[in-house]
Amino acid sequence: MNRINQTDQSRECSACPRRCGVDRNQQPGFCGMPAEIRLAKAALHPWEEPCISGKNGSGALFFCGCNLRCVFCQNRPISQGELTGTPVSPEKLRELMLRLRDEGACSINLVTPTHYAPALAPVLREIRPALGIPVVYNCGGYESVETLRMLEGLIDIYLPDCKYFDAGLSGRYSSAPDYFPVARDALREMLRQTGRPVFSADGTLLRGVMVRHLVLPGCRHDSIRLLEELCGTFGSSAFLLSLMSQYSPEFAPETADANLRRRLTSFEYSSVLNAARQLGFSGYMQMRSASGTAYTPDFRNATF
Ligand code: SF4
Repeated sequence: MNRINQTDQSRECSACPRRCGVDRNQQPGFCGMPAEIRLAKAALHPWEEPCISGKNGSGALFFCGCNLRCVFCQNRPISQGELTGTPVSPEKLRELMLRLRDEGACSINLVTPTHYAPALAPVLREIRPALGIPVVYNCGGYESVETLRMLEGLIDIYLPDCKYFDAGLSGRYSSAPDYFPVARDALREMLRQTGRPVFSADGTLLRGVMVRHLVLPGCRHDSIRLLEELCGTFGSSAFLLSLMSQYSPEFAPETADANLRRRLTSFEYSSVLNAARQLGFSGYMQMRSASGTAYTPDFRNATF
């Protein structure tokens, strides 16, 4: 099948900051995925921010596995091994991208691509001249700068999460105590590649970075500190901010701490929202009021 053993990164995988050092042709690392690209779903996806979705939706390719495996993940079935998707070849990936474009997608949206980035780079290099729509790298923010450099010129829009400031929080919820400094360095590289946001005449994003931050219950002080640090490092106009409120406790395990087993309060969200406004951020300050499974795609029985 489509092994990616042409790259040193898959023989001793260092595609992401975990640097597991495993040969993914033999065994998976922390992300849980072998070298072959496994896809959970390919479809028009209407639920991203409006400037990403456009009027028909983004052309989303949902990859299986994840290098963060957050305890509250709402895509747990595909991110943490319950569903292992379908192996797809580079040729099939290119075919799917063109099909989504022809169905009206305003962008190709690579969802959780980090652990496949070295294998995606040659696919994108070949398809980009024919594609004609932006490519979005929609990731958890825990990225290696070296891997991002491999993608230079291939990605139009970076859509990273920036989840935590506090090392204890990122260690507890995503097994990544170095999350914030790693994500900040990755964001610097993303901004270097794309520059400031550029929009089309109809308001879709053509180029740039949008940072997503999901406010977690019990974590508003961490959210505010994170926004202050990002503003102090990059300024408030270098990227768009998408401040999200739709935390869903039903995805957290029973063993998760009490905060993760309740919803976000409106006070918690509005205090972070006010801080974002005062810092001068612009973007999407509340995507949707609903939460839970309504916005989670059905990943079962996907065929390509
Ligand atoms: S991509 Fe997966 S195997 Fe490779 S370093 Fe990251 S978590 Fe480990």
